[in-house]
Amino acid sequence: MEIHAVGVIGAGTMGAGIALVCARKGYSVKLLDANQAVLDKALAYLDSTLSRDVEKGRISEQQKADTYRLVQPVSAIETLADCDAVIEAVPERLELKKTIFADLARICRSDALLLTNTSSFSITAIAGGLAHPERILGFHFFNPAPVMPLVEVIRGKKSSEDNVQQAYRFAQSLGKVPVLVTDTPGFIVNRIARPYYNEALRILGDGIADVEKIDRIMKKAGGFKMGPFELQDMIGIDINFATTESVFTDFFYEGRFKPSRIQQRMVQAGSLGRKTGDGFYDYNN
Ligand code: NAD
Repeated sequence: MEIHAVGVIGAGTMGAGIALVCARKGYSVKLLDANQAVLDKALAYLDSTLSRDVEKGRISEQQKADTYRLVQPVSAIETLADCDAVIEAVPERLELKKTIFADLARICRSDALLLTNTSSFSITAIAGGLAHPERILGFHFFNPAPVMPLVEVIRGKKSSEDNVQQAYRFAQSLGKVPVLVTDTPGFIVNRIARPYYNEALRILGDGIADVEKIDRIMKKAGGFKMGPFELQDMIGIDINFATTESVFTDFFYEGRFKPSRIQQRMVQAGSLGRKTGDGFYDYNN
């Protein structure tokens, strides 16, 4: 089966970027979100990013128009029935993802690739009990999706080898560097990243250094492009917290992965980082 038409579910931080990655490589994309305002924002992001490509001489006006036209905003999951591959990028809530994959299993062809951009949930758990679990795989982009080259291709317990290989080639066709990963909590990158965020939050909580100082040290002296708090604001503090909670649970509550109360309170307050205008930094000015 050749992939031509791609569905992307969730047009937020990741979905909008993933839609752009696919359209730039000539795939036709149906971009689905439950919230019309998010879809409008995603289209504005596509337009402004492609306009910048034109200004910088990377593409022509015609190429911009052709790429933009490949992305069709949609609001009903049934419209994804003719997609060859669907990439799910809704918030990190297991029951929500399971509901969406149950719908996709019913709606999509039995050979369509069903991919989840989950940061941490078990692919086996998402696919559990669904028809044709062999087509369900993890397909984990990094933020910002158009910039970061890595995609973790995660094999669930029942994912078929053919589909793993097809997803791997699909990632390559998107200009990404895929890496095959076993279905373990946090996969590779998010498992390594948990202590980076958690220890920064503990240092903050212990009053050893403030947010700016920790970020400055990690960037200036540590050589990181972004500090741990700038990164949390970019990722979304809700997404980051949910990922840590899920890794903690899946490691049977090992203390080294214990989530932070500071993050929990920020999520409860709705201070989620750049997307809400406030997080560890203020983005309103
Ligand atoms: P987000 O909150 O920015 O966007 C999620 C979007 O999903 C929202 O616009 C919401 O309206 C939409 N949505 C919710 N329920 C829906 C439904 N039933 N049907 C259609 N749309 C629905 O989240 P995000 O940061 O883009 O994260 C999405 C996924 O990607 C999560 O699983 C997250 O763990 C993963 N991820 C995030 C990052 C990151 O840095 N933010 C990086 C890698 C992976």
